[in-house]
Amino acid sequence: MKAWVLGNPGELTLVDKPVPRPGTAEVLVRIDATAICATDLEVISHGPPAVVGGEPPFNKNFTPGHEYMGTIVEVGPTVDEFVVGERVAVEIHAGCGRCERCRQGMYTSCLNYGRNYGEFDKGHRANGFTTDGGFAQYAVNHVNTLVRVPQHVSDEVATLIVTAGTAMYGLDVLGGLIAGESLVVTGAGPIGLSAVSVGKALGAGPVILTDIVDSRLEVGKRVGADRVINASSENVVDAVQKLTNGRGADLVFECSGASNAVNEAIHMLKRGGRVCLGAFSNTPSLVDIGHVVSNNIYLYGIRGEGQSAVKRAASLIAQKKLDPSPLHTHTFAFDQLLEAIRYFSDKVDGAIKVVIKPQEFRD
Ligand SMILES: [Zn+2]
Ligand SMILES: [Zn+2]
Repeated sequence: MKAWVLGNPGELTLVDKPVPRPGTAEVLVRIDATAICATDLEVISHGPPAVVGGEPPFNKNFTPGHEYMGTIVEVGPTVDEFVVGERVAVEIHAGCGRCERCRQGMYTSCLNYGRNYGEFDKGHRANGFTTDGGFAQYAVNHVNTLVRVPQHVSDEVATLIVTAGTAMYGLDVLGGLIAGESLVVTGAGPIGLSAVSVGKALGAGPVILTDIVDSRLEVGKRVGADRVINASSENVVDAVQKLTNGRGADLVFECSGASNAVNEAIHMLKRGGRVCLGAFSNTPSLVDIGHVVSNNIYLYGIRGEGQSAVKRAASLIAQKKLDPSPLHTHTFAFDQLLEAIRYFSDKVDGAIKVVIKPQEFRD
């Protein structure tokens, strides 16, 4: 098969690799679509959160890419959960299945993360982070990471089921969001826009979105934002307080990674409110901890899409209560990956989610 591999930082090359073989409880997935994510850019240029053989992922014949879907073309021994021909989206993190976090369903925070090598092989798997990922034509995946794709959903949009799963994980099980609670999402990237659409589907109200780009805020309205605030022209804390009658919001989902975002988030909240931290921030934040303490505020981080959140997202999509399709903006052939990454990272032509099709070639 053809697969992209990571050489030195920033260097991707299209090579031939053997098609992997499914083991017990695994299937072989022909990858039909893979979305590019900001975390891929981190992996390709810096390494973390990817760990291969206990080391940075460079020059290890490692294939990145973690948001993919495809068609089952072979089932391994004992598999009766799926059959050949089914379309599936793949959860990124399989975890190790044996540590206490995996046993709690928190497999995105597996204690054996990256320990799937050599004498430390604990069977951990996270596609495109610690094992080969979706910038390839085929991948082997465990049945417990597979989610059926609803029939009305295209291959391109099906890659967004996993993104919606991340938003779901931050909002429902970890965030405890219930219908009627107010939700503010800060940052209208793919996770933020997914959080808007999932929050709306779960009955949050009002759903308020902030960003500094008007075109992104417009997409936010299409996926369910009741109110949008442009943070470059308005004071977002004042605006949220006004929209919530001076009480503040029940939950803020922080997706911008801006240096002042966490401190602003705690000041947008109602007393006893919660802040979900969903952005990889590269710099430490200054936060008014006294305000957090005296107002009984909860802060929590999320990594990925634990506790079967992807299945719940797929269910809402199947019931047509959730439609992530406005987030998909561009599609490229497999050999155009570098161009696709440029579109994604430079937001060319309003790009939000850019997808490659591993079975299609331009040349
Ligand atoms: Zn991602
Ligand atoms: Zn584990």
